[in-house]
Amino acid sequence: GSGRAIERGLAFYKPSRDSYSADRLTLVSELRHAIDNNELALYLQPKLALATREIIGFEALLRWRGREQSVFADEIIAVAEQSGLIKPLTRWVISEALKLREQLVELGSSASIAVNISPNNLREPDFALFVRQQMKQHPSHLGSIIFEVTETSMMQDPANSLKALNSLNQAGIPLSIDDFGSGYSSLSYIKQLPAKEIKIDRSLITDLSDRKEDRVIVQTTINMCHSLGYTVVAEGVEDEATLNLLAEMGCDQIQGYFLTRPLPYEEIIEWLADQPCRSRISAS
Ligand code: C2E
Ligand code: MG
Ligand code: MG
Ligand code: MG
Repeated sequence: GSGRAIERGLAFYKPSRDSYSADRLTLVSELRHAIDNNELALYLQPKLALATREIIGFEALLRWRGREQSVFADEIIAVAEQSGLIKPLTRWVISEALKLREQLVELGSSASIAVNISPNNLREPDFALFVRQQMKQHPSHLGSIIFEVTETSMMQDPANSLKALNSLNQAGIPLSIDDFGSGYSSLSYIKQLPAKEIKIDRSLITDLSDRKEDRVIVQTTINMCHSLGYTVVAEGVEDEATLNLLAEMGCDQIQGYFLTRPLPYEEIIEWLADQPCRSRISAS
């Protein structure tokens, strides 16, 4: 269609996608089409519990089928947030996560699935109601569908975010603070949130083996979070040395390319089946 033609024309001169540019508008209408026509997918990335070396959950990450290499998740989310599509998109994500967990349970797994929630969703007056209805239809997944929210995103509207998170928590949704340590943390705000888990941002984990400063920050964060009763997850673990360091530091769970990149459901099932002995991911 003409959208494609516009995109090809712009391929020679690539302006950054601002909210008014032609290719931004094309992307919005293509995204709307993608949501309605099941062109989106949730890839899964495993979360490993360091104490037992078991895969205890997955994070669901958004992908655009056929465009995995050209349109990244953050860009899809940015476009969706600016165009109002974040509402139907997140509802699709939540119901798709429930379907995937249904399939996991049928295979005998009790692993949780975490989904990422945009701050805009927390401003929808009927968001908690939607979530309650979904969970009522799938009561066996209650407690095993986790919502991840970033600390920085909530600071745009702290009072209302807190209200929304409290009502989700009352609906039985475990909450996780994503990207912890990546922005201006307000511990006095975070401590009020009904969260059970903190995910330490990848930027503090990437150079853990080489940077003493990062080890001090991460160790202090783990100790503080444990004292406050949170489960601690480290994101962005790319090698075994980092895994071992985090295990020594008492971190509860890890996620990262060292285990695997996020994969489509079928491939994650194959990956799980290929982990007969846990030696590859065990420290000693
Ligand atoms: P996030 O929630 O912090 O997700 C972690 C990101 O780090 C993912 O990028 C994941 O693929 C990547 N990652 C995982 N392990 C490693 C590693 O070892 N090394 C490196 N370099 N990267 C790693 P992805 O999938 O591109 O998603 C980016 C962001 O987009 C997410 O950050 C999240 O904020 C957002 N996002 C993704 N899916 C959704 C969604 O369904 N809804 C919403 N609202 N946001 C989403
Ligand atoms: Mg996340
Ligand atoms: Mg994160
Ligand atoms: Mg992030």
